[in-house]
Amino acid sequence: MSKKKTAEQKIIEKHTEALHRGFQDWPTLEFGLPPTMFEDKRWTPELILSTWIQAQTGNIPDNGLEYRIGDSGGGFDVLDFNFLPEEQWTPKNVKIDTSLVLNKRNDGLAIITIPVPFYGAAMSFGSISLNTMLSKAMAAYMMGTFSNTGEGGYPDELIPYKDHVITQVATGLFGVKEETIQRARIVDLKYAQAAKPGLGGHLLGDKVTLAVAEMRESVPWISALSPFPFHSVYSVEDHKKHIDWIKQINPRALVSTKVSTTIDIDMVASGSYDAGTHVLNIDGGYGGTGAAPDIAKKNIAMPTELAIPRVHKHLVQEETRNNILLIASGGIRTAYDGLKAIALGADGWIIGTAELVAIGCTRCANCERGRGCPFGITTTDPELSQLITPEWGSQQILNLYKSHENQIIDACRKLGLTKVTDLRGRTDLLKYCPERKHK
Ligand code: SF4
Repeated sequence: MSKKKTAEQKIIEKHTEALHRGFQDWPTLEFGLPPTMFEDKRWTPELILSTWIQAQTGNIPDNGLEYRIGDSGGGFDVLDFNFLPEEQWTPKNVKIDTSLVLNKRNDGLAIITIPVPFYGAAMSFGSISLNTMLSKAMAAYMMGTFSNTGEGGYPDELIPYKDHVITQVATGLFGVKEETIQRARIVDLKYAQAAKPGLGGHLLGDKVTLAVAEMRESVPWISALSPFPFHSVYSVEDHKKHIDWIKQINPRALVSTKVSTTIDIDMVASGSYDAGTHVLNIDGGYGGTGAAPDIAKKNIAMPTELAIPRVHKHLVQEETRNNILLIASGGIRTAYDGLKAIALGADGWIIGTAELVAIGCTRCANCERGRGCPFGITTTDPELSQLITPEWGSQQILNLYKSHENQIIDACRKLGLTKVTDLRGRTDLLKYCPERKHK
């Protein structure tokens, strides 16, 4: 075998090396990253590194690095599980079921089952590169779960993986066509994103290349703005009309509805159930985005961990909880965050930023600019985006998925469960850890 290293191997080595240096000298590295990552208590350098290690190996780190929580002093970081004494664990010879059924309405539409209780986040062509999109879609295909096109259109390159790609219809209707809706097994109506509720989307002109503009049917190098809200939807009845419109175009598709965690999120959930949605995605504060001001990201939406039990309890009271799938997103970084979301009342979760960390994101917060991403992840520059190849990227993400799957099995075993679905709403299995709060 040739000893000559491929460009890809060199990038991986350089990145791993830099990560292992402990981030102390990042600003002086050739990547030129700003030091913003030092201030990120949610995604600590240790958590970034342990996520990267999982993406490289498919396993949790074996050197004691923290892979479950960050250091925010709140939210998921101050919750933990009350694991049982070892003699009460589910025996090793008992198989743990980690699968999730996505259609609970019993309405004659397809019963889609995914092998793990999570799927990939919506990230649009334009906000990320085509190769990053392909990496996500190929990983979802290999895992048997889903990825999501986001709101920037459906590139043809994703068609081979279409059975595992959700297509999104958002307020800008960028790239939305009848054929893309007909292609999908799940159509996602995005009403809001909790990182920027009430603000819509803003893809800076720098990233609207010829290819991105063509896909979005917009003007190159001019910012692509998605309005807020859908100007055709101001009530539950309008929402129902929207769902009926999707069903008219694709009667086989399941419908997912993405909403942000506003104060009346429980009422929104009821209305969305009545309108006919199959999957309700509640997107809580701290979700990742490269296009929202800090004031919006951190201060408007309700944190995910508060919104989940509110919605869960409300739907239980209304006796509709078992007919709708509740998927949590927004700030879910690890398998443990996801499992805590289920214990609080969700059915499953969406993995977003962690997928990008798996392919080299260091959380430098430079995603908005066209050539801003030093690792070619969120860039739309044709040259820079070649730093990620779909083959390498999908394997990294798949490894992370596999590591998360193993952690789900391990945690269920330690809680004496045989099915991850039995964890739903089991707040009694959680404990509060005040010692992790900041003084
Ligand atoms: S995707 Fe790229 S630009 Fe954005 S935070 Fe990660 S490394 Fe930085």
